[in-house]
Amino acid sequence: MPYVRVAVEVPVGGLFDYRVGDADAAVVAGQRIAVPFGPRTLVGVVMETDVTPAVPPERIRAGRVLGDLAPLAAPWLDLLRFCSAYYHHPLGNAVGAALPALVKTERPISSTLWTRYAPTAALPTFPKRERTSARLAAALTAAPCFGHELVSTSPKTLALLEDWRARDWIAEAPRGGFVAAPAPPLGAEQAAAVAAVERDLEGGRFTATLLQGVTGSGKTEVYLRVAARALAAGGQVLVLVPEINLTPRLIDQFRQRFPQSTVVLLHSGLSDSERSHNWLLAHAGGADVVLGTRLAVLASLPRLALIVVDEEHDPSFKQQEGMRYSARDLAVYRAKRESVPILLGSATPSLETFAHALSGRYARLVMRERAVADAALPAVRVIDLAVNRAEHGLSAPVMEAIRERLQRGEQSLVFLNRRGYAPVLSCAACGWVSACSRCSAYLVMHRRRGLASGGSLLCHHCGYAEAVPAACPTCGNVDIRGYGQGTQRLEVTIAQAFPAARVLRIDRDSTSRKGAAEALFDQVHAGEADILVGTQMLAKGHDFKNLTLVAAINVDAALMSADFRASERLFAQLTQVAGRAGRADKPGVVLIQTRFPDHPLFQAVVAGDYDRFARGLLAERERAGLPPATFQALLRAEASKLETALEFLKRAAASGVPAEAVEIYDPVPMSLTRLMNVERAQLLVESRSRPALQAFLDRWLDWIGRQPPGAVRWHIEVDPLEI
Ligand code: ADP
Ligand code: ZN
Ligand code: ZN
Repeated sequence: MPYVRVAVEVPVGGLFDYRVGDADAAVVAGQRIAVPFGPRTLVGVVMETDVTPAVPPERIRAGRVLGDLAPLAAPWLDLLRFCSAYYHHPLGNAVGAALPALVKTERPISSTLWTRYAPTAALPTFPKRERTSARLAAALTAAPCFGHELVSTSPKTLALLEDWRARDWIAEAPRGGFVAAPAPPLGAEQAAAVAAVERDLEGGRFTATLLQGVTGSGKTEVYLRVAARALAAGGQVLVLVPEINLTPRLIDQFRQRFPQSTVVLLHSGLSDSERSHNWLLAHAGGADVVLGTRLAVLASLPRLALIVVDEEHDPSFKQQEGMRYSARDLAVYRAKRESVPILLGSATPSLETFAHALSGRYARLVMRERAVADAALPAVRVIDLAVNRAEHGLSAPVMEAIRERLQRGEQSLVFLNRRGYAPVLSCAACGWVSACSRCSAYLVMHRRRGLASGGSLLCHHCGYAEAVPAACPTCGNVDIRGYGQGTQRLEVTIAQAFPAARVLRIDRDSTSRKGAAEALFDQVHAGEADILVGTQMLAKGHDFKNLTLVAAINVDAALMSADFRASERLFAQLTQVAGRAGRADKPGVVLIQTRFPDHPLFQAVVAGDYDRFARGLLAERERAGLPPATFQALLRAEASKLETALEFLKRAAASGVPAEAVEIYDPVPMSLTRLMNVERAQLLVESRSRPALQAFLDRWLDWIGRQPPGAVRWHIEVDPLEI
């Protein structure tokens, strides 16, 4: 009797064996299967067939193969196996995280969803009261449509479509040939980069290439050109970006360039059904380009021909909860497994990627010039706060520079990576500070637009919120104040200083409504704003043509950080935000306010010399034995008492599991020790050898899993970005 091993998404998430009936005897790996699990029926994926069951046959229950989808292909199954093994996350949960909601339900999935229909002849005219039919006919007459595009307007549509198909009123539309709209002539550096990747595409082999192009060097055009080559040959292209905000413009660019190709989005901001439909379209091969954030790396792409990771250095590619994977690293694995080229683009590559490029494991293509004919990289100046005192956070040279831009009708951007009004509210009389009762963190003061007083105190970590008190809760003093400066306060300060200017704040708060970010960015592009105030949300990827000044204020905290990656991150952030200035024909200026004007990091930003800075950091990391010279993993424990968490980690450290070439450090409280009333501690393990670390983790986690759990929750994070 045939037995299969199935990946199921359950808390104990592993693989479970099931029996399939004679009718399902032709079952293959990668098929969907409905299986009983306890009292429930779950939908999982067949990972292995013809298995010898691990438990007595009479205890094995029967599953039902769902044959409505093409099986997930072997490379996809391998990607999930690798992801599960490398990040030590149960395979069932890894598969569960990769699949969209619709695919995890038992209901049959109709191929109508991913079929593109066109009328076979003129469709009947429907009376007005048959609104759904009338609308459907109008849509199909206007242009061929995918079933899912039509279904999203009304659920009744699916039945109608199937009915019309049965009547032969509509049929699958023939796939149009590949067309690329006219493109600008490439610059010399772009042409060289495109030619190199095209050679790899033609060779049909894996190559990882770092496209190290300064901000505004036209990396997007390179992506479009090489994508054109892959698409023309009938392949699918996967494009990963770090943030949802970057997808609308990029998807427009792809759709305009490839009018006959189907370009779909995959990111967490989509509704369940949108995400499911786009996923199915990719899986069925109907989507030619899949553009998305980190979860898109797990899409099923049967004709994958090219992967692009834009802004590859961005920490957002790392998932910070649940399955803690790096989408960039998985993308490289995937490219290798499927023998396709991968292009990793950045002006400030991660040190991991840069080290691979230096060692020759990755190819490196450098673009030093901006793509637009008269655009030059902005001039960067450091403003010494000891000489130019800042008032409300802004120094005189910055104010003067903004004023000049206003007179010339150009845009300015003031960058402050701290949202809210003030980072803390405090009483000068008794020393009370606004602290979160559930976390080891301050409550941040937030104000509503135009409100002189009031507002709320918010915990940025757990979401706790309360009204700003009228007086000090401890001593009754009414003169309590917000200390320090967030983007809201900066917005107020700037609006007061430049009353005629249109000030636009762009941060997580001003963009929390669906579509708000897009609307704000559109306003910037349309020239409806003079001064932008914002966090790193503004720093990434955007191409603002009329922006000629960037002022970075209050960046010094990062220099003091205990995190060894802080300077790498600050360099990237400053270079990226600086890169928003002077992207068209008007020269750009960047001003960085600091109390440490001689710090080598600022000097490197001024010199625009990423390579020298990165080589310096790499040498430092090598000496200190830090990544990428070493590989790390963190075991984290959570408990109601810190002692309990630390005890658990101490026992784990003393497990006696052989740790060859692996260093185990002492457990320490996490820097944000308490979160949501839970105390958190962590234990670092490190090795110069990735295989040695992995071998240790396998045995160690197995040992930990066999210990009585006690009152501790734990997880492992491989290649953590924050320590
Ligand atoms: P990057 O991603 O490298 O920072 P972008 O891809 O945003 O840069 O391109 C910067 C600007 O250069 C864009 O306005 C783009 O339209 C323009 N551009 C890119 N390539 C060319 C080209 N070959 N000719 C003219 N303009 C170009
Ligand atoms: Zn007080
Ligand atoms: Zn909190």
